Amino acid sequence: MKLDFNKSNGLIPVIIQDDLTLQVLMLGYMNEEAFEKTKKEGKVTFFSRSKNRLWTKGETSHHYLWVKKIEIDCDCDTLLIKASPEGPTCHTGSYSCFEEQHSKGFVYKLQHIINQRIDEKTNGSYTYQLYQKGINKVAQKVGEEAVEVVIEAKDTNDVLFKNEAADLLYHYLILLKAKGFQLEDIEKVLFERNH
Ligand code: AMP
Ligand code: ZN
Ligand code: ZN
Ligand code: ZN
Repeated sequence: MKLDFNKSNGLIPVIIQDDLTLQVLMLGYMNEEAFEKTKKEGKVTFFSRSKNRLWTKGETSHHYLWVKKIEIDCDCDTLLIKASPEGPTCHTGSYSCFEEQHSKGFVYKLQHIINQRIDEKTNGSYTYQLYQKGINKVAQKVGEEAVEVVIEAKDTNDVLFKNEAADLLYHYLILLKAKGFQLEDIEKVLFERNH
């Protein structure tokens, strides 16, 4: 597969994705020279349309994007680069140029809601009420839901099983928050086991 730089004035759009979290970090463009430099140095160099020159992301901030994997799309006119960001990717200091909540799955949205309920001490919220009872109580609840999952796993009622599995996940997220962790911390542990 050979990249087709002729299609759009010598520039190819490049999607940068965090290799660890799979979040989209930014989009840039590469000409052939930028692409070769990126492959050679192992960190992302774009062709900046505003600077009108090669731009190594991180050249002043040192927030480099270290290349993990380069994928070419079906018709060889777009790149997807999985990278490990050395710091925030956006020049505003955010992790990503796109709002995180939108690119993550629903479990992350749920985590965000749980964090909000707890951080904002939302009265009448079950999440906050449980959290207030302390880590032991939250952990006990996770244990109970886990047992319920085990019980339903032995049965053949898929609806009940899925509901208990959902209860477990929800309470597990509250426990992580109560312990001062986020799902990303656990993902990191799992990810590093594979690398
Ligand atoms: P850096 O490459 O991180 O050293 O940043 C150098 C300059 O590039 C910054 O001052 C911004 O003008 C620009 N820049 C950095 N990151 C981004 C980005 N994610 N998207 C667009 N422009 C950026
Ligand atoms: Zn394409
Ligand atoms: Zn940005
Ligand atoms: Zn349950």
